[in-house]
Amino acid sequence: MAEETIFSKIIRGEIPADIVYQDELVTAFTDISPRTPTHVLIIPNIVIPTCNDITAEHEPTLGRMFTAAAKIAKAKGIDEDGYRLIVNCNKHGGQEVYHIHMHLVGGQPLGPMLA
Ligand code: 5GP
Repeated sequence: MAEETIFSKIIRGEIPADIVYQDELVTAFTDISPRTPTHVLIIPNIVIPTCNDITAEHEPTLGRMFTAAAKIAKAKGIDEDGYRLIVNCNKHGGQEVYHIHMHLVGGQPLGPMLA
């Protein structure tokens, strides 16, 4: 079984977080150091450390991450202007927490890339 990170504690409510969405497959909460006016992390409720660990059995969960992102973007009122979804993988991708997460960033023009 993959090693837990601080994100598992957030899912279980053991440490505080601004949870904006949760269902049986995914949890979404505001990033602790937001880089944009809207910066939400959407994570699977099970530990998948990196994109390299994704298998076919995870497909429903990964799909739900996108469904949740669309709902959250609408709820935050940024769906029409647009936003960006980012998943970092390993060192060169800039991954810091080894529990895959989708960054939903928006609320301002983002330019061609967001580091
Ligand atoms: P990564 O660089 O791994 O793609 O992104 C990890 C993100 O998790 C960072 O944007 C960081 O600010 C956020 N983060 C790390 N620890 C916590 C935490 O304890 N609570 C919350 N809400 N966000 C966190």
